[in-house]
Amino acid sequence: MDPSIRDKYETVIGLEVHAQLSTLSKIYAADSTAYGMPPNTNISIISLAHPGTLPRLNRKVVELAIRMGLACRSEISREQIFDRKNYFYPDLPKGYQLTQDRTPICVGGFVAIETSDGRREIPLNRVHIEEDAGKSIHTEGETDTLVDLNRAGVGLIEIVTEPALRSPVEAGAFLTEVRRLVRYLGICDGNMEEGSLRCDANVSVRLHGASAYGRKVEIKNLNSIKNVQKAIAFEVERQVGMVEKGEEVLSETRLFNVDSGRTYGMRTKEELNDYRYFPDPDLSPLHVSEEWLQEIQASMPRLPWETKKKLVHDYGLPDYDAGVLTDSKELAVYFEEVCEHTSQYKAVSNWIMGPLKSWMKEQETSNIPLAPERLAQVVHLVGEGRLSFSIASQKLFPALINDPQTNAEDLVHKLGLIHDTNDDSIAELVDQIMLDYPDKVKEYRSSKKAKGLIGMFMGELMKRSKGKADPKKANELLLNKLG
Ligand code: ADP
Ligand code: MG
Repeated sequence: MDPSIRDKYETVIGLEVHAQLSTLSKIYAADSTAYGMPPNTNISIISLAHPGTLPRLNRKVVELAIRMGLACRSEISREQIFDRKNYFYPDLPKGYQLTQDRTPICVGGFVAIETSDGRREIPLNRVHIEEDAGKSIHTEGETDTLVDLNRAGVGLIEIVTEPALRSPVEAGAFLTEVRRLVRYLGICDGNMEEGSLRCDANVSVRLHGASAYGRKVEIKNLNSIKNVQKAIAFEVERQVGMVEKGEEVLSETRLFNVDSGRTYGMRTKEELNDYRYFPDPDLSPLHVSEEWLQEIQASMPRLPWETKKKLVHDYGLPDYDAGVLTDSKELAVYFEEVCEHTSQYKAVSNWIMGPLKSWMKEQETSNIPLAPERLAQVVHLVGEGRLSFSIASQKLFPALINDPQTNAEDLVHKLGLIHDTNDDSIAELVDQIMLDYPDKVKEYRSSKKAKGLIGMFMGELMKRSKGKADPKKANELLLNKLG
């Protein structure tokens, strides 16, 4: 599409994000929530909805949901009820889902994101608690659908934004921030591939300056940030194309096809279920006491932006470093752990942002491969000038990862990496080089312009010492000799 046509329109996006809560047991039953178990093993008569069974609310689910609300400065509802959302689906044995329609646990609040125009607070409509459904498994070529109920009854929060996001990039930034936040809060592992974090995107377009919103389309079940962005971008083009042709955009639910990069219709709003919400008579209303709320407040983990502030103020890191390190809770925690063993904070940050992060990226792992005190040892070796950064990062660092038993100092000796700071042996090499390159020496001494030749002498010296000569010492001796 001609960008000038698309630019006449404003994109309006509201997200509904489901986050699976990291409790050990389900929201209304003692069944385990462990991921990846054989199908239909984490089930009980409650998840299977046997007649006469009664739900019992998991206190931890409420606490984790409140943590999210506190982090987003939402208002926490003190009196809540749970509603039945009635619909039929094979992976929903009860025939209804327990959710909070009228009294969401958190109301309002915001999640702040960084945009090209600076920081923006994206207002939340609500955060409510609900239960997950099971999983229907459609295998290609099979006529039967299999149902796995391990997930049925796992506790979720649904985070609903106001229609305040304005581009796929902003939607991505919002999701990235929510993922980081739930991880810092320890309430959800944030793993989109495993479905612990899922997103529905509501999208509409309107002419810039229009006061009313356009009619929205909901794209269901997006399972990666990239796909959320692609689906929205496609949808915007589709809707602008329709409006330009004078067609009406239908209120409908659509799905995103990853292979084609297109969305397609699933059902229109008119065909949509009437869920007939009503308060669940099996669960008593939930009262959140002042005491309980304060207890949860007091046990709040440190938040990403608080951690970032700490790295800047207490460790003197540049803003940029603090931002990169706090992108991941694990790296931020690790940084502070390493700094318990050394006071060269900026060097630690460089090591984490550089060699450590690239190694993890290369190995496609989120596990930090080196104990904190071992990285501190490396930082010291380089800081004391006994090892160059490049040898330390290229040789020592991978060797330490492969040999978790040996400490850095011993490994350096074992591998023969340590700088030869012995003046005599370096001086000897300098003498040899002077003899082997008489012309270059003459050239160097003859004009100021030839002073650049020092690089060539250094290179030769490092080569002959197999990289072990202390560069500072070598440079000093060379300059001395050359005059
Ligand atoms: P529904 O009645 O369809 O459930 P809601 O008003 O509850 O709609 O909103 C659901 C989600 O859709 C929210 O995230 C909201 O921000 C978003 N939304 C509402 N209207 C629009 C719109 N015109 N364009 C884009 N998103 C919208
Ligand atoms: Mg709604």
